[in-house]
Amino acid sequence: MSDKDKLLRIYLKARGKATGIESYADAQDYALSLGGIIADALEGTGLELSDIPEDELVAMLRPVLKQAQGDALNAARLAQQAQNRASKLRLGVLEAEIDGAAAEAVAGQIAGRAISKEYLARAVNDRLQHIVDETQRKNIKARDDMGLGVHIVRKYSSLGLRSGTKYAEPCQWCLDRCGDWDNYQEAYEAGCFERHEGCCCQIDYDVGSTHTVSKDKWNWYNK
Ligand SMILES: [Zn+2]
Repeated sequence: MSDKDKLLRIYLKARGKATGIESYADAQDYALSLGGIIADALEGTGLELSDIPEDELVAMLRPVLKQAQGDALNAARLAQQAQNRASKLRLGVLEAEIDGAAAEAVAGQIAGRAISKEYLARAVNDRLQHIVDETQRKNIKARDDMGLGVHIVRKYSSLGLRSGTKYAEPCQWCLDRCGDWDNYQEAYEAGCFERHEGCCCQIDYDVGSTHTVSKDKWNWYNK
């Protein structure tokens, strides 16, 4: 079996299915669990990463990253469907576009370098988290554009705290972007949807119950 097949196989066995996803926070947590699984899978192949030429690394990473991006998108879709149920809106889900060059980008970050497993996991996670974020942002914007009231919340969560280390330094850059907004544009301009590498803030939103929107309007909006 080739290394890339081996890698994909280990990943598929180790990754949990995206079940019980009721919010974007759940989808973000799920996406952030996948990078560590890929890093473990790479270690499981027994290869020394810093010895693998960049083009070979790209070829190895392509199938597994494609799968993980699909898994992250699936989790985001489930989060948005749960949001639709909670807000009693029979609307579809707008989805993030998958970055076809993710393998190249990650390989470029790690090729020829002695990197830690954590660094690799984070490089992957940043890309997976972006898929969840973009799916969420697009759906918030659509609801706001259609006149539904949105309430957006960004809560601080440091990577250290999420990975169980209690004494991580608070990140001022993130704290400056945390808060809550009743308007997409204001949240956008306040940097609510921006992240730095390894950022683990939780972003979530809900829709006000005072407005309704028809499926026709949704279809028209998405033309
Ligand atoms: Zn931060």
